[in-house]
Amino acid sequence: MYDLHVHIIGHDTIQRDYSAYIDSYMLQAELLGLEALGFVDHYPYRVKNVQKIREKVEYLKDHADIPVFYGAEIHVPSNTVIPKYFDYSLAHVRQRYSLEEAFTMARQKNIDIIAHPCAYGASCSPCQLEQFKDENICLELSEKALVYLPQWLYEEAQRRHIPLTLGSDAHFPQNMGFPQICERDLAWTSLDEIPFLEGRL
Ligand SMILES: [Zn+2]
Ligand SMILES: [Zn+2]
Repeated sequence: MYDLHVHIIGHDTIQRDYSAYIDSYMLQAELLGLEALGFVDHYPYRVKNVQKIREKVEYLKDHADIPVFYGAEIHVPSNTVIPKYFDYSLAHVRQRYSLEEAFTMARQKNIDIIAHPCAYGASCSPCQLEQFKDENICLELSEKALVYLPQWLYEEAQRRHIPLTLGSDAHFPQNMGFPQICERDLAWTSLDEIPFLEGRL
């Protein structure tokens, strides 16, 4: 088990040293026995000074016992250009955009994961995923938004071999873990089969 969606800054806009939270996340990852941890920040950032966060994540990438990554979560559609220092990116699809539009926007912006599919107002009528099966775009199994994930979408993704990545979308370390995903008996893509992690483990 791994987690590719834990927030360092979250929805805060207060200026403070958010890098202090990173250690608690690492400890929680160890307690949960995670194989890898992906820190994610909303980009563009909602606070000004992120230098300490970036330094600490960079340090952990070299020194932690498990692979550590740094991802950007961006709203789509948007004109945001994602900086190169991010290891991967997640699309937070705006309200009323369909799953087909989500895949198309992810393709255009080179985004790796469609975060919490069908959640938070994104539209979710049944569609054929066949056309997106070779795009290396993953769908997220989001612990926090699992209630929005229709079973047909999960099964369709499985059938088309569209990678399914794990993300808690935790904004605090105590919100990590995947009790509901385990309860629903969902299968996720193993780390070594996630396209954008190839050669990085
Ligand atoms: Zn989101
Ligand atoms: Zn998020």
